[in-house]
Amino acid sequence: MDKLDLWSLNYNELAELLCSWGEPAYRADQVYDWLYRSLILSVDDMTNLPIRLRQRLMGMATLPSLDVGQKHYSSDANAVKFLFLAADGQAIEGVLLKYRRWFSACLSSQAGCRMGCAFCASTLGGLVRNLSVGEMVGQLIYLTREAKRLGADLRSLVLMGSGEPLDNYENVLRFLTQVTEPNGFDLSYRRLTLSTCGLVPEIRRLARERLPLTLAVSLHAPTDDLRTELMPVNRIYPLAELMIACCQYVELTGRRLTFEYVLLARVNDSPYQAHQLAELIGTLPCHVNIIPFNPVPGSSFKAPTPDRVRLFYQVLQTRGIPVTVRRELGQDIEAACGQLRHRALKKRT
Ligand code: SAH
Repeated sequence: MDKLDLWSLNYNELAELLCSWGEPAYRADQVYDWLYRSLILSVDDMTNLPIRLRQRLMGMATLPSLDVGQKHYSSDANAVKFLFLAADGQAIEGVLLKYRRWFSACLSSQAGCRMGCAFCASTLGGLVRNLSVGEMVGQLIYLTREAKRLGADLRSLVLMGSGEPLDNYENVLRFLTQVTEPNGFDLSYRRLTLSTCGLVPEIRRLARERLPLTLAVSLHAPTDDLRTELMPVNRIYPLAELMIACCQYVELTGRRLTFEYVLLARVNDSPYQAHQLAELIGTLPCHVNIIPFNPVPGSSFKAPTPDRVRLFYQVLQTRGIPVTVRRELGQDIEAACGQLRHRALKKRT
């Protein structure tokens, strides 16, 4: 029988398990504390549990279910990129990013991706598999440990690593519920961001859950022709449908959306396209995050010049759309989605 992954259990599941073993109710709190407050990586370190219970736990559950393969620090010390290794050898990326005085975690939701966006390294080898809840929790454990070591809190989380989170819907939702548990990581939904390439049925489903998280939608083009070229998913869910789903999301959750827009030199970065984008967005309550392309080796896309970024930004601003340009953190450690994983895979072959 496969062993249970301790990181995949929410508080109630853990409490039920321990209760079924005849343990007193407070044991679940003790174990949960060790896992999510002390962030220990071995059942042996749960020193206030009787040895027989530790042995029973070790016999039936794995901890940790993820190992650290590589760790890279950016030269400005504002980003730390981890390449984790799963039990089946899959490489998974997670990044710790410094914002002012606290850290944010950028996690992967899948090994690889099947969405096929033309500019993205995550999709180069296709989708290998969905990540389990425990594998997402595990990334967060290691990144929180690292943040503590560096002396600051980890306060926010974005699902913007490898993979399409809404293509792994059940696990991602369970993961989000688990990291907001008050006796666990206790992250606030308001500090969680889920980024999607625009899977319309899942956006609708997520809206119905009415969670106060931030939904970030990757637009990247103001017209269907260009968007289909850059993002094949647009063939199935074209802009008109996507924008209706976005409106519904705002209506049901009361939350402002984020639109992401990767600026690719001479492809989607003209002031005219910025005006088209403003038209598309209209009066939808949102915030646009411009992401200058992070060059992927071997890719024919290029990063825009600072002038073009400024012009694009100014058009949106003058049209009254709240807009920011994403700070470029950790470029020297290949912090863009899937790059480190892709390089590790290439080395193996
Ligand atoms: N599948 C999700 C998460 C992807 S990662 C989605 O599509 O939204 C988060 C963002 O980074 C997405 O907007 C993605 O399109 C963008 N991105 C991917 N590769 C990039 C690169 N090389 N440079 C800049 N942004 C990139």
